[in-house]
Amino acid sequence: METGDRGVDRDVRRELSAATRVVGVMGFPVAHSLSPRLHNAAFAELGLDWVSVGFPVPAGQAGTALAGARALGIVGLSVTMPHKEDVAASVDSCSPTAARLGAVNCVVDDGGGWHGDSTDGAGLLAALARSHGFAPDGTRCLVVGAGGAARAVIAALGDAGAAEVVVVNRTPARGEVAAGLAGPAGRTGTVDDAPGCDLVVNATPAGMDDVADGPTTWPVDPDRLGPGQLVVDLVYHPALTPWLAAAADRGARTANGLGMLVHQAALQIERWTGHPAPVEAMWASVTDPGTPGGPT
Ligand code: NAP
Repeated sequence: METGDRGVDRDVRRELSAATRVVGVMGFPVAHSLSPRLHNAAFAELGLDWVSVGFPVPAGQAGTALAGARALGIVGLSVTMPHKEDVAASVDSCSPTAARLGAVNCVVDDGGGWHGDSTDGAGLLAALARSHGFAPDGTRCLVVGAGGAARAVIAALGDAGAAEVVVVNRTPARGEVAAGLAGPAGRTGTVDDAPGCDLVVNATPAGMDDVADGPTTWPVDPDRLGPGQLVVDLVYHPALTPWLAAAADRGARTANGLGMLVHQAALQIERWTGHPAPVEAMWASVTDPGTPGGPT
């Protein structure tokens, strides 16, 4: 490893220098992103002289930004809205998952150019394995939504051996395309399929409303959810959406999207540095109120 991998004492305040290796998250807007906090917690725990920052890159500028980042010696990028598709079209090579999704959330310099990967779906499955011991193999799953996050989850469930991945989407044609990403296990369906499913994932913004008259839209009527099911909302702010709370009231186990956020970043750390990600430290950086810079 080169000088950028020199260990630094994590108990000593880090000093950035000309040898510090730089990664970052590119998106627009990006100032709200928790990714640098997660990455920097990992670098500190690993004792690596690396730093992660935010790069506000306007829509349509992803290709230019990638070329500039390469020229500047930036060693890796996390990619968020609105660039995931543009980056997939601009990198020099893609993982099979990223190529299938047509979306990239992680870029690494593989020596021959930028290599794009997608860690979102694998991140969610790693999070559910950690929090609930969930193993997708042979399970029946229902995903509401067919956007970027849903497609990553649908593909990951299909790859992980789910017996059935039912996709429910407001726009049926997009649902058909998304269901195809799960291979033979994928099909479109309706919320009527929910009661028989082991895993129900909301990958839409629906279910966040909690107006005085009651929520206006549910991804799946909570009365169709209950014991024996794991119910996941990819939203993590608020931590407990009205929909997740209603599912928990009916006896379902629940998880929000924070685990996906942490674990997709952990997989990025591993792609960039080659080190196992310090997942506990990364979790603490976004959940522990005592952590400097953590939630208050
Ligand atoms: P996206 O690409 O814009 O897709 C949005 C999806 O939600 C589409 O399927 C859309 O249906 C559907 N939708 C939107 N509003 C709806 C409504 N009122 N009722 C029913 N369906 C609705 O967005 P995305 O990037 O996939 O993000 C989806 C959700 O996941 C967001 O809440 C986002 O915050 C969350 N997310 C979480 C993480 C994480 O790390 N935890 C990562 C990414 C995203 P149509 O196809 O009909 O338009």
